[in-house]
Amino acid sequence: MLTVSDDGRDRLRAVQPGDRWLVAVAHPDDEAFVCGSLIAHAASMGAAVTVLCATRGELGESAIELPVGVTLGEQRAAELRDAVALLGGTVRLLGHHDSGFDGEMPDGAFCAADADMLRGELLHHIEQIRPHVVCVLDGSDGHRDHLFMRAAIIDALHVHTDDVLLYESILPNSLMRRWLAEMRDLRPDTVYMSIDPDTFGRPDLEVTDVLDQSHLLALREAAMAAHRSQTTPFDGLSDDLRRSFISSDYLARVPIIRT
Ligand SMILES: [Zn+2]
Repeated sequence: MLTVSDDGRDRLRAVQPGDRWLVAVAHPDDEAFVCGSLIAHAASMGAAVTVLCATRGELGESAIELPVGVTLGEQRAAELRDAVALLGGTVRLLGHHDSGFDGEMPDGAFCAADADMLRGELLHHIEQIRPHVVCVLDGSDGHRDHLFMRAAIIDALHVHTDDVLLYESILPNSLMRRWLAEMRDLRPDTVYMSIDPDTFGRPDLEVTDVLDQSHLLALREAAMAAHRSQTTPFDGLSDDLRRSFISSDYLARVPIIRT
């Protein structure tokens, strides 16, 4: 699928100063664990990259003892800012509440946001940022906040009038099968064990663009490590599988059909 700008430039790969990118995520750590290399890729070539994060990830678990008086949400918001600064971007944090992976939702949960209000909120930021390229998680890991952010961004871009290249950051099924197989031994209690391997992630054929980001590996690792309170989905994996996940970006171009 074509990824070119009006002047024939491949905006995804041949990034230039003046380009504006928006990476929309649901939780702190999504940006580093999933899109870290992509953010570093665009920022290192001069693009202004904004990470728009819906929640503070309040319902996650902490792998560390938090400083006295600091909530998990505050800790994670600080980690988000640190990680994105390392990657070369800036953060806009929305005030929604983490909905959690499943079960009853708390007050103010992102997934329970009113559609019209959320569209207005996202459009406000999109119209200020005026992105040329937008990236969002595909949500194929099954987290409802990830799916909701994807749907909300697509909804907002349908009524935004500028031309935008929209990509989903994809988890290819072939990688997710290998991840499940290794996690079965490493963390058999994870919620992901209930997922059918056949439908986990996305069919590999749906990947439209693969970017080799191995030259940005150190930066990606540093940004992931900035999420001190979080365990990465790659901890304990074999070197080969870990590298397959974090040294390449797997993307799918999403057409924006205006009604
Ligand atoms: Zn997340």
